[in-house]
Amino acid sequence: MYTIKQPKEIIFGKNSCKEYTFPDNSLVITSNGAIKRGWIEYLGIKNYFLFDSVEPNPSIETVNEIINEFQNSNFSCIIGMGGGSSLDVAKFVSHKLHKKKIMIPTTFGSGSEVTRISVLKVDGKKKSFHNDELFADSAIIDSFFIYNSPTEIIKNSAIDALAQCSEGFDSKNGNYYTKFLCNYAFELLEAGVMNMDHEKIVKGSLVSGLGFGNCSTTLGHALSYVFSNEGYSHGHALSHTTLLAHEFNKSKYYERFKKIVEKLKFSRIKLEQNYVEASELILSDRKHLDNNPLEITKNDIISLLKKIND
Ligand SMILES: [Zn+2]
Repeated sequence: MYTIKQPKEIIFGKNSCKEYTFPDNSLVITSNGAIKRGWIEYLGIKNYFLFDSVEPNPSIETVNEIINEFQNSNFSCIIGMGGGSSLDVAKFVSHKLHKKKIMIPTTFGSGSEVTRISVLKVDGKKKSFHNDELFADSAIIDSFFIYNSPTEIIKNSAIDALAQCSEGFDSKNGNYYTKFLCNYAFELLEAGVMNMDHEKIVKGSLVSGLGFGNCSTTLGHALSYVFSNEGYSHGHALSHTTLLAHEFNKSKYYERFKKIVEKLKFSRIKLEQNYVEASELILSDRKHLDNNPLEITKNDIISLLKKIND
C-alpha cells in the first residue's frame, strides 16, 4: 500500500504571489533582508506582524523565541517566506500554535513548502522532524524570486533539489509515483542548471519536493549533516556527500550528478570532527539510512568520510 501526501493547495506560476490575496493580520516569518529586497511589498499585504531574523541552519530556540514573542498577538495565519530555513521555522511555529500556514519559497531547492519535514538544530546538531501537521495549507511557488537571487544561492539550492530527487528515486521507501516525480524533477533541474534556465529550476525544485517528500532522501543527506554542523551550507555539503553516496549505491544518476557538480564548481569540504564520532552520529540517522538502497556499516561511513577529506 502506498500513500501520497502534499499541501492542501499548491499555487504556481510566475507572479502568482501578486495575484494571490493574502489574509490581513498575518505573521510573516522570514530572514533578515526581506523588507530591503522588497519581498513584503511584492506580496501587497497590509497590517502584518513580522519576524525577520531567521538564521541559516536555524535552531529550535528560534522557534521558541517566535512563540514567546507572538503567541498572544492576535494574528490570523503564518506566512513563511524565504529559503528552507525560514520555511522550516515557520512551519514548526504554525504547527505548535495551530495556525494556518502559507509557505512561499524565495530560493528553489529545499522543497520545504510542499513537504512534512522541518530541519532544526537541537543542541547544536541538525535534526529533521517529520510530521503531517507540518504540511503547508497553501504553498505558493512564484519564479519572480529567482531572478533577484545571487548565483551562489541558486547554485546551492539547485544542487539540494538535485540531490533530493535523485536520492529519493533510489529510496527503498519509494514507489512508481515518487519515481516518476523524482525522475522528472531531475530532468528539469539538469536542463535548468546546464542551460541556466531559471523557470526549469523553479519547476524542478517543486516536483523534487513533491517526489522526495513522499519517499525520503538517503545516504547523501545522512552524510551531509556532520559537515553542516561545522558550518558548510546544505547544498555545498551535498555536492560532495550525495556524489559519493551515488557512487556507493551505484545510482543511475551518478554520472549526470557528477557533470552538474563540475559545472557548478563547488569548492572542497573538509571534516574537522574525528571519523569515529562522526560515523556514529551518521549511523544513528535511521530516518535516512533505513531508506538507503544498500546496507551501510560504520566502516563504510568512515571510508566515505576519509575519501572526502583526502
Ligand atoms: Zn536537502
